[in-house]
Amino acid sequence: MKEKETVADAIVAFIDDADVIECMTVLSLRNEADIVVKLSGGHKMRLFTCSADDCTQIMVKEYRGSNAEYCTACKNKNRNKKVSEETRQKNYDKQTAPNSKTPFSYLNNEQKTIRNSRNNNVKASKNRKIRTLEMRLTNLKKKFNDAEELTLDGSDGTTFL
Ligand SMILES: [Zn+2]
Repeated sequence: MKEKETVADAIVAFIDDADVIECMTVLSLRNEADIVVKLSGGHKMRLFTCSADDCTQIMVKEYRGSNAEYCTACKNKNRNKKVSEETRQKNYDKQTAPNSKTPFSYLNNEQKTIRNSRNNNVKASKNRKIRTLEMRLTNLKKKFNDAEELTLDGSDGTTFL
């Protein structure tokens, strides 16, 4: 390396070096791809892979501590995940309501369970109403067959629904 190389020059040199990339790829397969390189002038450079589990993006940056860092694609993915989680929390009740228009596939498992349970409550309630209606119709039919005179105005104590 040249004597007066800037950190930016060094980063470009590392990124463009096929051997460096190959070595980093091998190291990343062993989960050991986190290397700090000392440069002239007291600068340090860090070669590392993205902290996301399923990402092998190799990054070369000026060393600022070995905190977890993500590549741009994963950063965006995490941001989108965060936004969608915030939206989910904000619309939690709407999304789990029995009459919700949110597709089932957009719900997490907890929400699916809640919506199923609420749907079942609605079905049970409708079934109860239908049974009551059937009973009243049966009674009415019986009364109609039995009665000499039928009143439907409720004056005989029969209310329809
Ligand atoms: Zn990544």
